[in-house]
Amino acid sequence: MQTQLLEGTNIEIHNKIQTGNIKHVVFDFDGTISLIRDGWQNVMVPMMVEFLQSETETTETHEELEAIVVEFVDRLTGKQTIYQMMQLCDEIEKRGGKPKEPLEYKDAYNQRLLPIVDQRISDLADGKLSAETLRVPKSLEFLQSLHELGVKCYLASGTDVEFVKNEAKLLGVAGYFNGGIYGALREYKKFSKAMVIQKILTDFGLSGSELLIVGDGYVEIENAKAVGAIAIGVASVEDNVYNMNADKRERLIRVGADIIVPDFREGDQLLEYLFKGL
Ligand SMILES: [Mg+2]
Repeated sequence: MQTQLLEGTNIEIHNKIQTGNIKHVVFDFDGTISLIRDGWQNVMVPMMVEFLQSETETTETHEELEAIVVEFVDRLTGKQTIYQMMQLCDEIEKRGGKPKEPLEYKDAYNQRLLPIVDQRISDLADGKLSAETLRVPKSLEFLQSLHELGVKCYLASGTDVEFVKNEAKLLGVAGYFNGGIYGALREYKKFSKAMVIQKILTDFGLSGSELLIVGDGYVEIENAKAVGAIAIGVASVEDNVYNMNADKRERLIRVGADIIVPDFREGDQLLEYLFKGL
């Protein structure tokens, strides 16, 4: 089917879906609701290039290493952060180095990102920044409307669960996730977005059209389509200096997003479409 715009909006409809059945909605967090960690790539990429230089004897230039890092960090975005660190370990090993445990690199990354996140959080507390500027436009209002419709909402993020819970609270959205807030665990095999989705389907005996997944990453959209759920891709704009994910919209369409929105500014029209038939 050709791309169609929902009449009078910028909401792209890519597949014909069965509307009017949605009872549960799973949201991704970073880039879908929250902008608190926006620009995280600007921290992760230089850190990895630095380790590749200091922990191996490579003769590759800074630019060559950066291109390699940008490629795999981008490709693994949306999964838990540990997978990016596992790839870093492989790259160190490939170049004759002896990598540390992936978790150690992840801790180093969190330590570097934390001051940036903390600064935004304290600016929020001091009133220098409003929560609204750190949320994807109108995401709070969209959650409010879903809540009023009696839909159960869940949060599932590749960021560590304790950070996600705290940041969701600071952004004023935590209360809307009456289905629960899930995120990355140190025991990384005990969590994935696919596991959260599967558990909801099983617990409530749902069919695909009763479950909606909303995210800006190809991982959650792929997970949604694998179980026949409805998938909304959020082609939100990111602030990273590497031009990573510049083709976010195309990527989300490629993995099967049924609907594409830039954010939730047309949330009312989107809900009207999704819930028509009720
Ligand atoms: Mg995301």
